[in-house]
Amino acid sequence: MDVAAYTKLLPDITARNKPFWDGCAAGELRLQQCSDCGHVRFPDAPVCPQCLSASASWQAMSGNGTIWSWCTMHQKYFAAFADEVPYRLVYVRLAEGPLVISVLADAPEDVELDQPVRAVFRTGAAGRAVLQFSTETAH
Ligand SMILES: [Zn+2]
Repeated sequence: MDVAAYTKLLPDITARNKPFWDGCAAGELRLQQCSDCGHVRFPDAPVCPQCLSASASWQAMSGNGTIWSWCTMHQKYFAAFADEVPYRLVYVRLAEGPLVISVLADAPEDVELDQPVRAVFRTGAAGRAVLQFSTETAH
């Protein structure tokens, strides 16, 4: 899978999610953390889902997580991914708590529940860096 040539559709960068994308460009996974209760959330939201506080800051996460679930895509449901099948979608439980969905940048033979992964960033179309996960050198 040539992830360096990332040309898929991407979400718009908005005032609210810009810190996340700035983090990706800097090679850092940044998520919102509630300033009142400390809850880390993803996706971004105007208020904390735990305590409803509107006060939050963007913090760099460790990038470490474990595979909570995954599936291997064999069908060419999306034209932009047609050259990459099979590829693995992963649902990752970050060390800080949130679940994040993305793809595995590498292609290990076997994937297991609770397998350690780490965040990696791939730059593609228009210089935009995207979050993916890797099973390599996870710690
Ligand atoms: Zn909170």
